[in-house]
Amino acid sequence: MHTDLIINGQQIQGQALSFAVINPANESVIAEVASASAGQVNDAVRTALQAFKAWKNVSDDAVKQAFAKIAADIRAEKDEIAQLITLEQGKTIGMAQFEVDAGASWIDYLSGLDIPVETIQEPKGKTIKVYNRPLGVVASVTPWNWPFMIAVWHIFPALKTKNCVINKPSEYTPLSTIKLVEIINRHVPAGVCSIVLGKGEIGQALTEHADVAKVTFTGSTRTGQSILSHSVSSLKSVVLELGGNDAGIVLADADVERTAQGIFASAFLNAGQTCAALKRLYVHESVYEALTEKLVQIANAQVIGDGANPEVTFGPVQNKMQYDKVNALIADAVARGGQVLTASKALPDHGYFIAPALIANVQEGIALVDEEQFGPVLPIIKFNAVDEVLERSNNTQFGLGGSIWSTDLAKAEQIASQMETGTVWINSHSDLSPAAPFGGWKLSGLGYSFGLEGLLLFTHKQAVHISG
Ligand code: NDP
Repeated sequence: MHTDLIINGQQIQGQALSFAVINPANESVIAEVASASAGQVNDAVRTALQAFKAWKNVSDDAVKQAFAKIAADIRAEKDEIAQLITLEQGKTIGMAQFEVDAGASWIDYLSGLDIPVETIQEPKGKTIKVYNRPLGVVASVTPWNWPFMIAVWHIFPALKTKNCVINKPSEYTPLSTIKLVEIINRHVPAGVCSIVLGKGEIGQALTEHADVAKVTFTGSTRTGQSILSHSVSSLKSVVLELGGNDAGIVLADADVERTAQGIFASAFLNAGQTCAALKRLYVHESVYEALTEKLVQIANAQVIGDGANPEVTFGPVQNKMQYDKVNALIADAVARGGQVLTASKALPDHGYFIAPALIANVQEGIALVDEEQFGPVLPIIKFNAVDEVLERSNNTQFGLGGSIWSTDLAKAEQIASQMETGTVWINSHSDLSPAAPFGGWKLSGLGYSFGLEGLLLFTHKQAVHISG
C-alpha cells in the first residue's frame, strides 16, 4: 500500500505532520500518512508548470494511447483497488468493484471524445478558427464518498484537454487515489499528474496557488464557497460540485414494486453518502402505504457489517463526523414527532454503523428534511396535489437533482420541466452518464462536469482570425 505523495513522477514522503487513515468498519488505523508541507505543494505546482510546456503539445493519439494503458492497468488491478476502497471508505466490496469499473469506463468514454475546432467563414473572406486550448495547471480536490471515481472524474478531463493536474484527496480516503495516480504515472510524463496529501489546509494551499489556472472541487457547499472566494485574485476558473437535497416525487400511477427498488437503491446508495442521492421522498397518498411497506421490507432485509465480507449488503458511514451528524438528524426528527418505520437492528460494537432508517410523519421545517443528511436515513412525506409538491420540492437552497416516478412519461416530463435542478430523472435517480452534463443549480454548484460541455470547461477558447 502506497502512502506517499507523488510529485514530478516521484514517490516522496510528506514533510509535515502525519494523520491516520481509519477503517470505518472497525475504527482500526489502516495507515499513517505524512502530509505535504507548503514547500511540497509549491514543488508540485512548479513541476506541473514545467511539464505543461511539453504536455500541452502532446498529440491526441498519444493521449488516447496513455488512457488505454491506464484503463487496462486499472482493470488488471481491479481487485486490489476495490479492496483499498472498501478498507478506507467502508462501502461493500461489490460496490467498490463497481466504482473501479465505472472509473475505467469513464476513461474509455473520455478517450473517444474529440476536442472540436470550429471554423467560421466570414462573408468577406476571412476565416476564423476557434480552438479549445489547455489552461495550464489544474487543482483537483476530492471527497471521501466515492474517492476513486470522483478522482477519475476530475483528473481525466484535465489530462484529455492537455492540462497538468494535481489532486488532493480527502484525508479520510487517500489510499485508492494514491494508487490511481501511481498507475497514471506509469503512462504519462513526470509532472503531468501529481498528488499531494493532507487535510483541508493543504487543499486550500493548492487551490489558492497563484500558478493554478483552474480548480475542480467536489464536496461541501461551505468549502466550495471558500475555494471560490480565494480564486478571485488570480481569476481562476472554478467548477464546483456541491451538496444537494434531491427530492423524489412518486405519483399515484407509479409502479410500486419497481419504484421501491429504485428509490432504495438511490437513497441508500453508498449508505446514502452520494451527492446525487435521493434525500427527501414525497409520495402520493394513494400509493403511500404500499410503497412505504415495500421500502421497509427492503431496508429490513439488509445485511449490515464490514463491506469486505461479500455477504454484507450495507456498510458503515465513512467517518465519525458524518456518523454523529446523521445520528443527530435522526434523533432530532424523532424528538419532533418523526416515526421510524424500519426495525431496529443489532449493530457491530465497533465501526460507524447506522442501519438504514425510513422516517415518516415529518414535514419541512426540520433539519432532516431541509438539510443534506448524506447518510442512511430517508424522510418520507405524504402529498395529494402535484402543484403543491412541486413547490415544496423546489423550496430549497439546493438544486442538484430530483426525480419523478410515474408510468405516465409525458406527464413526468412536464413535471421535470418545472423542477429547479441540474438533473431530473424519471423512474430512476443517481445514475449518471459520462455523456450528459452534470451540475447543480443554486448552492449545489457552479459549472458542469461530464459530456463535451463539461470537458471544454478545462479549456480556454482561442479565436484565430485568418485573413488571406
Ligand atoms: P469538505 O467539503 O470539507 O471536504 C471535501 C474535500 O475538501 C476534502 O478533500 C477536504 O479535505 C477538502 N477541504 C477541506 N477544507 C478545504 C479548504 N478550505 N480548501 C480546499 N479544500 C478543502 O466536506 P466534509 O468532509 O467536511 O463533509 C461535510 C459535508 O459535505 C457532508 O456532510 C456532506 O453533506 C457534504 N459532502 C458532499 C460531498 C459531495 O459529493 N458533494 C462529498 C463530501 C461531503 P479533508 O477531508 O482532508 O479535510
